[in-house]
Amino acid sequence: PPLISASGVAKRFGGPGGTLALDGVTLDIRRGEFVSLLGPSGCGKSTFLRCLAGLDRPTGGRLTLEGVPITAPPAELGIALQRDALLDWLDVLDNVLLPAEFAGAPRARHTARALELLRMVGLGEFVHAYPRTLSGGMRQRVAICRALLMSPPLLLMDEPFGALDALTRDQLNVDLRKLWQANRMTVVFVTHSIAEALFLSTRVVLFGPRPGRPVDDVTLDLPEH
Ligand code: ADP
Ligand code: ADP
Repeated sequence: PPLISASGVAKRFGGPGGTLALDGVTLDIRRGEFVSLLGPSGCGKSTFLRCLAGLDRPTGGRLTLEGVPITAPPAELGIALQRDALLDWLDVLDNVLLPAEFAGAPRARHTARALELLRMVGLGEFVHAYPRTLSGGMRQRVAICRALLMSPPLLLMDEPFGALDALTRDQLNVDLRKLWQANRMTVVFVTHSIAEALFLSTRVVLFGPRPGRPVDDVTLDLPEH
């Protein structure tokens, strides 16, 4: 059975007559897939991701994780949004360890993993630096390590590299693909970049372009890298 199943998922903002952001999204996502949601700005990608994350509720249709309707953020979810949301008063390592903190897990058990992730993205020498001393690209990499710390079976990313220059984005795309290859989690990745979607994903789902009609029924199954 699919990990995620969306059937006729609709989302209207602001009550009757309000903006129809999703209009009948139907798709299944299997375990271990790296799915990009690709489409122009305003076509409902973020709304759909927020519904997957349990941060927003569909107003119609059925959206399930392991067969259970999503009504709250799933327990083992990694999430990285457009802005990195690091805590300025914690150093890099402590920022990455936050999900362990929230889970009430002993810090020591996750420190080695945090250091390994930071090394993988080239931040091994910055583990005790504070976020404000880092560049935008470095901060974004910290946020990605944080999202991956607990090896979440499900990783949701909404244009996590959107604010970065093209070179940094390319590097992070390489990092992310390596991490996915090493961990084989399920990733749903929102982007409006065709190149990014094709580089990263095992599958691309096209949204848009008309608002309120978000999903084109075109799904490309790409070979695994
Ligand atoms: P995308 O991520 O593809 O750019 P969004 O999901 O952000 O698209 O937005 C889809 C549509 O829903 C847009 O018309 C947007 O203006 C509208 N929308 C998104 N969030 C809200 C909100 N909280 N309240 C009202 N309208 C919203
Ligand atoms: P931005 O997107 O904000 O420009 P980058 O990640 O491209 O961020 O990095 C910008 C600056 O930070 C550059 O001077 C780069 O040399 C430095 N930098 C980035 N990552 C590292 C790293 N792993 N080790 C040392 N310096 C780094």
